[in-house]
Order: sequence, then structure tokens, then C-alpha cells
Amino acid sequence: MLLEKIDCVAQLIKQSRKIVAFTGAGISTPSGIPDFRSPHSGMWNNVDPMVVASIYGFRNDPQAFYDWIYPLTQTTVNALPNPAHDALVRLETLGHLKAVITQNIDMLHTRAGSKTVYELHGHMREATCIHCFAVYAAEPIIAQFLVDKQVPHCSRCGGVLKPNVILFGEQLPIQQLMGAQDAARNTDLMIIIGSSLEVAPASELPLLATRAGAKLVILNLENTHLDAKAQVVIHADAAEILPEIMQRLEITA
Ligand code: NAD
Repeated sequence: MLLEKIDCVAQLIKQSRKIVAFTGAGISTPSGIPDFRSPHSGMWNNVDPMVVASIYGFRNDPQAFYDWIYPLTQTTVNALPNPAHDALVRLETLGHLKAVITQNIDMLHTRAGSKTVYELHGHMREATCIHCFAVYAAEPIIAQFLVDKQVPHCSRCGGVLKPNVILFGEQLPIQQLMGAQDAARNTDLMIIIGSSLEVAPASELPLLATRAGAKLVILNLENTHLDAKAQVVIHADAAEILPEIMQRLEITA
């Protein structure tokens, strides 16, 4: 049954020329970065998301945000792309994949070598002062934060620095969103990987794709509300299945 599904996805890929991958935290769990919604992921244990991970909470108590994000930051800086990220790079190199739309902030797609990546929820490459909007490269700021666990401040005005990740209550970055919407409207096959599809407005993009006639493949450990709309649904580890799909594709090419 699983092998048939893998074959079927390889066939769909072969027939498609404008594939878009839509990824969530689940593509990075094999790299050691916990997702937010799997049982026991721990990210929301003992915290209120609206207090630690909203822009209102951040402005009110930035140290609470930084305390919460500390373990994720530590894991993310040490994480490496896994075979699922690598498979998407290969699919792009072969000319099948036009874009990756990701909700992840971990930058593992770009670090793996994917070229066209829309980071809907931002990234950890930069930080911005919430007072004067000065932008800083995040690397030295993160390195210092990992040592002292303190809220970083702007060297120009003393304001609090926020990593360029999108918190609850913030707008998505407009250029990334428009690029992602355009890719979703123009794709013939969207492959959803490791997303609960519970975070809007990102989760609306697969529907934009299906309304424009695209087929859907879903590769996720758990059910999603779009499973019924997909041509193929595989409930398994993305880092195992995507390389197998690539192998089928390249054997039968
Ligand atoms: P989510 O936590 O809501 O859902 C993750 C989904 O991935 C779950 O349904 C789970 O069953 C599935 N999954 C877990 N491991 C998997 C694997 N190895 N193979 C296949 N599926 C797997 O994640 P989301 O939908 O991306 O939404 C959460 C929000 O949290 C996003 O906004 C994202 O920005 C943020 N987030 C990002 C990271 C990251 O950058 N790596 C990590 C945690 C959360």
C-alpha cells in the first residue's frame, strides 16, 4: 500500500512541471527541531501562546518571549537539513519544483540549497528594533543571547530587538505572501509536507492551489482537514518517504 502510494506520487511528479512544496514544522522534526502541535512536542507546555508568542505579549514582556524561544533557538542554530530538505533541492534541480512555500523560521530549506523559497513566517537571519526599526544581522545577536539569555537591545536607540519571525497578531511579510500566492495559483501539483494546516492565513494557500486546478499530495504524520481533497495522503516520516519518492522518480525517469 505504501509502495503503491510512493509510486503514485512519483507518477504525479513526472506529469507535473510547476510543482510547489508547502512545508511546515514537521519537515524539520527529523533535524531535531520540535514542531508545535505534535503530542509531547512541549513547545506550548506551561505557556500561553498569546503571552509568549504574540506581538502584544512581546511588547509587554520581551523577556518571557526570549525565555520561551531559548531552547528552540539553541536547537535551530545547531540543526542541519535532513533528507527531506535535500529531496526538495533535487526536485528543483531536476526542473520539477518551482518553489518551496514554508511556514518554518529555521532556514533549513535555504541552507540545504533550495533557491526559490517563500518564508511566510519570517526567519532568524535578521532582527529588527521595535522602536526605530533598525535591522541587524541576527547571527552575533543570537550568539550573545545563547550565552546570556537576555533580551537584546538596539545599539542605536536602546529599543528591544525582535527576530524577524512573525508572531501571532503580526502581518505576514507582503512580498513573501504575494510570491507564495502567485506560486500557489500557478502550480499543477502542491505537495504538503509536515504541516497541521492549522495556522491561517498560510493554511489557505493549498485551497488557492486546488481552486486553480492543482492536485494535492499530503505527507504528514497525522490527519489534516485537507486529506479528503488530496490525490494521495501518506502518513509517515517525510525524511524517509521523500527520498524514496525521489528514488522511484529517478529510476523510472
Ligand atoms: P505544526 O506543529 O502545527 O504541525 C506539524 C505537523 O507535522 C503535525 O501535523 C505532525 O503530525 C507533522 N509531522 C511531525 N513530524 C513529521 C515528520 N517527520 N514527517 C511528516 N510529518 C511530520 O506545524 P505548522 O503547520 O508548521 O505550524 C506551526 C507554526 O509554528 C508555523 O507557523 C511555524 O512557523 C512554527 N514553527 C516552526 C518551526 C521551524 O521553523 N522548524 C518549528 C516549530 C514551529
